[in-house]
Amino acid sequence: MNSNDILLAKVKEYCPICDKEHEVEKRKRKSKIEVKDLIVEYDEIYFRCTETQDEENEFVTSEMMDNNLLNAKDNYRRQKKLLTSEEIKEIRKKYGLTQAEFSFLLGLGEITITRYEKKLIQDETYDKIMRLVNDNAFLALDYLKNNKEKFKNIKRYDEIENNIKKVILSDTLDYLNKQEIEVKYVNFEEESKYNGFKKLDIEKIESLIQYIAERCEDLYKVKLMKLLWYSDMLNYKENNKSITGLVYTHQRLGALPISGDEIVKLKSVQIIEEENMHQNDINIIYHILPNKEYKTKKLSEIERKIVDKVIEKFKTFNTNMIVDYMHKEKAYLETKTNQIIDYNFAKYINI
Ligand SMILES: [Zn+2]
Repeated sequence: MNSNDILLAKVKEYCPICDKEHEVEKRKRKSKIEVKDLIVEYDEIYFRCTETQDEENEFVTSEMMDNNLLNAKDNYRRQKKLLTSEEIKEIRKKYGLTQAEFSFLLGLGEITITRYEKKLIQDETYDKIMRLVNDNAFLALDYLKNNKEKFKNIKRYDEIENNIKKVILSDTLDYLNKQEIEVKYVNFEEESKYNGFKKLDIEKIESLIQYIAERCEDLYKVKLMKLLWYSDMLNYKENNKSITGLVYTHQRLGALPISGDEIVKLKSVQIIEEENMHQNDINIIYHILPNKEYKTKKLSEIERKIVDKVIEKFKTFNTNMIVDYMHKEKAYLETKTNQIIDYNFAKYINI
């Protein structure tokens, strides 16, 4: 057996070779199969009977076979740059649609989307339409209206219309928020010591804050800002570039990125306002939680190592502790209020 063939578990299962239930091996291996015009590699799950002397000692259940084929077809889709069954499902869920409703919205027959999510590979035309509908909620609304007669249940139709309008609203707010960030960085378009020789990368900011929020319990806004700063600085120190391209300034609570208020409104995190008593004053503090619904691009392995180091160092620090810690940094001591803290200070950071 080759090294690609892995034992996953030993399980009790009805074995059709011996015609009785006994312990069999559940295994996984790389296999190849022809899908349409391509030979695709995929992970095949199967059972192996260790009791029989027969050469034929493997079997699959019908559910396994379905999943294996789905795997193979999704790999075909990836190679052909088509949406995978999971991605089609995500588009549908984003607008709160059942499979049949998504079919109707696109003007297709009732079970077409069910087939796309199960076994049938979509043709390129519908792949393109589904992508457009995903990227543009206004277009989804147009499609819905054009196919209104397909929806027999008017109450449901109205609900769907509302779902799509909610997506339009949240996409628009997200767009405006990102525009505001871009505007505030208009003077930092060139790579320089101010942005760590990296152009502002909003997608990367989203990935980074989601990554941090997933790993830090009790994360509040001020602490998040410090963790972003240390991540960017440490990456600059070790890899000569910041991760995000953010520009930081000297503020009372330490380094703060320009556009810090907008950054926490990005979709990769949720922000919850909480009241906090401080010396007889009620302050609003901002609790940061990961947004599990929102998928960001993965950080690179090099970046993950950097951020893991920063999280490991500060994970037990509360807001005051991390602010005090940052106040002792040369980057803070040698800059004045509102002044940009350039990345040349990275070589002195204490981490
Ligand atoms: Zn058997």
